[in-house]
Amino acid sequence: MDELVEWLRAQLDEDERIARAASWADDANAWHAEPSPFNARSAGQRWYVEDAMEDGVVSHVDPRASDDEGVARHIAEWDPARVLREINAKRQILDEHRPSDLAVYRPHGCPLCHTWPCPTARWLTTVYADRPGHREEWRP
Ligand SMILES: [Zn+2]
Repeated sequence: MDELVEWLRAQLDEDERIARAASWADDANAWHAEPSPFNARSAGQRWYVEDAMEDGVVSHVDPRASDDEGVARHIAEWDPARVLREINAKRQILDEHRPSDLAVYRPHGCPLCHTWPCPTARWLTTVYADRPGHREEWRP
């Protein structure tokens, strides 16, 4: 298998492992941010993130150097449900933008872009540029 494809698939597998570790039920994977009730506010907890079943607080948010509402909404927006959807989309994109052995696409070129690594695959690697194994030559 191509090294870029193999490395990128490993990053997506790692993202999925992390998202599933933060998930306790498929029905609870969508999170939302809410302002804390008054009694929690007096304890310094002004916003919290709750799961879709509204029976489990994911986290109280009390950042020291940032806006608590902004941080809570960011955490909720990047819930396991969205992360898993993004992983699936990236896997589909990578399945379409991969090296091909068919001569019509030139040896090892992407069937859509006719080169390898193609710009689409290169851009996908930039998401994980801070992880071990990323190569500078993969940058677009
Ligand atoms: Zn391509």
